Formats: sequence, C-alpha cells, structure tokens
Amino acid sequence: MNESKIMPLNYRAIRQKSQQFFGYEVLRSSRKTLALYISHRRILVRCPHRATRKEVQDFVNGNQKWIQIRLQEESIKEKESLKIEKGGKIFYRARELTIEYKEGRKQRILINGDRFIIQGHKLNAAKAKVQVEDYLIDKASEYIIPRARGLARYLGVDRRIREIKLRKTKSKWGHCTAAGVIQYNWLIMLAPYSIIDYMIAHEICHLVRMDHSTKYWDMVESICPNYRYYIDWLKEHEHRFWF
Ligand SMILES: [Zn+2]
Repeated sequence: MNESKIMPLNYRAIRQKSQQFFGYEVLRSSRKTLALYISHRRILVRCPHRATRKEVQDFVNGNQKWIQIRLQEESIKEKESLKIEKGGKIFYRARELTIEYKEGRKQRILINGDRFIIQGHKLNAAKAKVQVEDYLIDKASEYIIPRARGLARYLGVDRRIREIKLRKTKSKWGHCTAAGVIQYNWLIMLAPYSIIDYMIAHEICHLVRMDHSTKYWDMVESICPNYRYYIDWLKEHEHRFWF
C-alpha cells in the first residue's frame, strides 16, 4: 500500500516552535552509552567515541523535557541559595527567617521569632557574612564535637578518632578517613538538630565500618531510626545552606 504522509503546509514552522534547542558540550570516551549531565546551566553529553553527531543531537532532542525541568530546578535553587544581606532570607532550622542588621558594639546573632538578627558595628554584607560564619563555627564546635566523641565512646571506638575537623567544603557534609580523621561541614549548623545528629552518627559509624554496606546502614539505623527521611530532607534543602 502506498501511503503518502500528509504534512501541514506550515510544517517547518511547527517543527521549529515545538523544538527548543539547547547548547551543549560533548565529551567522548570509551563508555558504551550516552548520558546527560547538567550543572550550573552547563549541559554535558557523555558518549562513546563512535557516536555520530546525529546520534548525539537525537539524544539531546529526545531528552528536551528532562533538560527543561532540570534547568528550571536549577534556577529555583539558585534563587533560594543563601545570601547573607539585610532583608534577605535565611533557611534556619527548617524555618525561613528574615535577616536584620542591628547596630551595636558587641557582635552577636539573635534569633527572635522569624527574625535572624545580626548585631555588629557598621555592618555591611561582607562583615555580616563573616559574623554568621564565626557564629556557625562556634556552634559547631560546641555541639558537634562533644556529641561525636560521646557517640564514639558509647560505641567503643573513641580511640580510633585521630582528629575532628570543622570545615566548609564544597559539597560534602562529612567525611571520615581510615586513619580516623573526621570532618564535618559547619554549615550543617543551619539545619535542624535531628539532621545534625544524623550527620554525626553517619561519620562515627564509619569508625566501625568504612563502607556503606547493609551492616553499616543497620548500625546507623540503630542510632538514628529516621535516617532515610533525613537523607531525603538534606537532598531537598541543602542548596539553601551554602553561602
Ligand atoms: Zn558515608
């Protein structure tokens, strides 16, 4: 049967309207499949050496919807990222507070209702940022270090701790090495205490088991029964903590 395709006269125009084109980069390697990565508005296609230009383009076209959604999500996250400035919003202990400046010789942070008050002398954005950093580092050393040591003692692994460091790292909340050096990101002090406690438990349990095996997670669960919920919560909100 000879069936001819019926095309609307303005086919070209429709096609152009329905297709959005994204600029993307291509990285070829010895891999076998194509995959898309989006980060900071940069779209990257990883593909095998032998993939043709058309195959790559078709792959991108076929994933347009997903790319659009991801780019939208990124721009929302970007808008929600923390900016320490007068009148700005800070997501503190799972509540959105408004940042206020208060003139005063004594430097301190006060939380009053839905206000996050930064008190200092002749404050500006740079000074306010340093003050919030100092505040969180102080809180982290007061709260995280004794609790981490206490939990390690309880589990009988306190002697395995060589050092507990507090450091703002790019993307990690915590880290534990085989040599017993534990690191926590002090930005976690912006999160609710249950989340902080989960992070503490996560790294201390690595002193017992250095992997993420079922046995490891069973141990985390015995200390922190809701840990799965906390992991999800962090994934959803952590972009609001970095500044
Ligand atoms: Zn881990």
